[in-house]
Parts: sequence; structure tokens; C-alpha cells
Amino acid sequence: MAQPWYKKLHWQIILGLVLGLIFGIIAAAQGWSEFTGDWIAPWGQIFLRLLLLIAVPLVLASLVTGVASLSDMKKLSRIGGKTIAIYIGTTVVALIIGLVLVNLMEPGASVPAEMRDKLQATFSEQAEAGMANAAQAAERGPLEPLVNMVPGNVFFAASNNRNMLQIVFFAIFAGIALLMIPKEKARPLLDFFDSLNDVIIKMVEIIMLSAPIGVFALMADTITSIAGDDLGEILELLGALGFYCIVVLLGLILHMILTYGSMAVFLTPRSIGQFMKALTPVQLVAFSTSSSGATLPVTMERVESELGVSEEVSSFVLPLGATINMDGTGLYQAVAAVFIAQVVGMDLDLSAQLTIVFTAVLASIGTAAVPGAGIIMLVIILESVGVPAAGIALILGVDRILDMCRTVTNVTGDATVATVVAASEGELEDVAVAA
Ligand code: ASP
Repeated sequence: MAQPWYKKLHWQIILGLVLGLIFGIIAAAQGWSEFTGDWIAPWGQIFLRLLLLIAVPLVLASLVTGVASLSDMKKLSRIGGKTIAIYIGTTVVALIIGLVLVNLMEPGASVPAEMRDKLQATFSEQAEAGMANAAQAAERGPLEPLVNMVPGNVFFAASNNRNMLQIVFFAIFAGIALLMIPKEKARPLLDFFDSLNDVIIKMVEIIMLSAPIGVFALMADTITSIAGDDLGEILELLGALGFYCIVVLLGLILHMILTYGSMAVFLTPRSIGQFMKALTPVQLVAFSTSSSGATLPVTMERVESELGVSEEVSSFVLPLGATINMDGTGLYQAVAAVFIAQVVGMDLDLSAQLTIVFTAVLASIGTAAVPGAGIIMLVIILESVGVPAAGIALILGVDRILDMCRTVTNVTGDATVATVVAASEGELEDVAVAA
């Protein structure tokens, strides 16, 4: 007999999310921020930490086995090349959608000058902190991102989730070396990582049982931290920046429908309905954690079990995607850069906008898969086209909300590309069709 709807995990998570939202709004209106911070937020933190806890070992185990199971270097370079090409291609499409929308809709024109000054004054301190971070990143030479990919110490790299790209590097390298040594020598290590992989996937299943509560707490905490005890302020902020938010959201939705939708329909045998069913829990976790890194374990589990992507493909394509493929972030950065330019009265010509595309593709590769990383990289983009970086003060107030939404697009992109790559390689298993 079919399970009743309320027993299905994604409905429970949706319920958690909606209740968290309602609770957050009531808490902000009633001045319960402290109570929420003391008694509700910790449950969200625990959920988030549980996901982050398994992110590094998951990337390591799944990539090492993923690469090593590709059986030969030719297959690895074919799948690797295809994956990276699609990742970059979809990011460029996302950026173009963002740029077209922001130029056509001109959200910057609707922000009154006094609101601009107020926003700049309110968020200047936070903006300076962000700029200092980005300045450190930009100060180093042009090849710095490449240098940063290579860890000097694997344990140090593994000790910080922001260094995921270094773990990806190490894991792919180790996987390749495993392919090159005699099979009987490779076997023990492969068996070890294989078993670690299974343990972690089981841990994901267990953690996801608490997702409805975790998502509830994360939502309630996010709302009260944004709004404090004064709901009026956030409403005023949304009033001023609402049009900008709408442009970003519209871009994200269009990209998901047009780009991912057509990839799903034309390049995979799966239906849109199957994609939606498989990815709803993934998107909800991404929305409430604002971190594609934290969502990765859930993405892998759902893509394999519901869409039938083979472990071989998913364990290579998804960890790579979570770290380098951020279409939502890129789209948001393009819109934000042009929006800030519009507000401060600067005109960005075609070559400046092409510079945005180029820098944003690189920036989205370098953006860590954690909350708020996108706005730090935005500073680098702003500097590349001569827009004052202090302008991020204008958009900081609504950044968390947009972060949640762009992370949804980021993880949806990873999952779609994984399915497309699997379909093109004949690596889609039948199990999912029955699901
Ligand atoms: N939070 C985003 C992610 O993890 C990155 C960002 O845009 O800030 O995918």
C-alpha cells in the first residue's frame, strides 16, 4: 500500500520549513528573538553540523572511488571533460540570463537616493569586513586560485569545509594514482573507501530523519536573525530592495525552468516530474542551510536512489559540482553587480558586462559552498569593472534570503548535470524509473 503523503520525507520537510517561517515571523513580531536563539536555533545548528560533519569524508571517499572505478584514464578524461564543459556552459547561460534581466528591468533605477544613503550607512561596517576578505584574495597574483587548489597539507585541507576544492584535488589525484598501480595493490584501499562511502550514505539517511526539525529550526533562526525584534525594518528593506530581489529570483527560476528543464527533457530519459520528486528534499535542505556543501550528502543520495544515476558518475560529478558549479551564485552576482552600478549611477557598457561574465565564471568556481560566500566574491567582480566595492552595503540586508534561493539553483544544477552525464554515458540505472 502506498505511504500516506504526510509520512513522506519531503512533505515533512516542507511542513518544517513553513512552520519555521511562521514561527520566525511570530517570534520577530513578539520580540522572542532571544528565546529562539537560545532554544530553537541550536537544533538547526546540530542538523547543519551533522551534514557538514560528513561532507569532507564523503567528498574524499566518493571521489577516490568514483575516479578509480572509471577503470581507465580515457574514460576519466572523457567524463571529466564533459562534466566541466557542461558546468561552465550552464554557468555562462545563467550569467547571460541575469544580465539580460537586470538590463531590461533596471531594478537600480527604482531605489530612491535617501534609501541608498541609509542602506550604505547601515551596512558599511559589514561591507568593509567583506571587502577586507576579498581584498586579501585579490591582492595575490592572477594564478593564485590555481595555487589555492593545491593543498600543502591534506589534513589541514580536510580541517576546513571552505577548502573543499583542495580535497577535490587530492581525491582526484589519489584516484588517478590508484588507477595506475596494479589492481591487487589498489584493492584494499578501494575496498576501504568503498565501505566508507556506504557508511556515509547510511549516515545521511539517518540524519535526514531529523531534517524536518532541523529545517524548522534553521528557518526560525534565519528569520529572527534577519529581522531581530523589529519586523518593520525588514519590511522596509524588502520594500526598497524588493524589485532587485524579484529580478534575481526571476532569473533563478527562468534558469531552472529553461536551462535545466530543457536539459532534463532533451538530454535524459527522466521526466520533469521525476526530477521534481527526486530533488524536492535536496532543494529544501539547500534552501534552509544556504550551503551546497552541506547539501551534498543529500544530493548524492537522492540522485542515485531516485534518478538512477550510477554511483560511478554521481560520486565524481556531484562533489565536483558542489565545489565549482554555482550557476545561482553567478547569476546573482551578475544581477547584483549591474544593480549596484545602476544605483550609484554608473553605466556598464558591453565590454564591462562581458568582463562580468568572465570574472563571474571564475569567481563561481572559487566560491566556497557555504553561506554568504557569493557576496564576498562579488567584491572581486565589482572591482574588475570599476564599480565601488563598498556598494555591497546596498544589498547586504537581503543577501541571506537570496543566498538561500541561489543555493537551491546551485544544487539543482549539479543534480541535473550529473543526470545528463550519466545518460550520455549509459550510466542511468533502471531502478529510478519505478520510483
Ligand atoms: N551559499 C552558496 C552555496 O553554498 C554560495 C553562495 O552563493 O554564497 O551554494
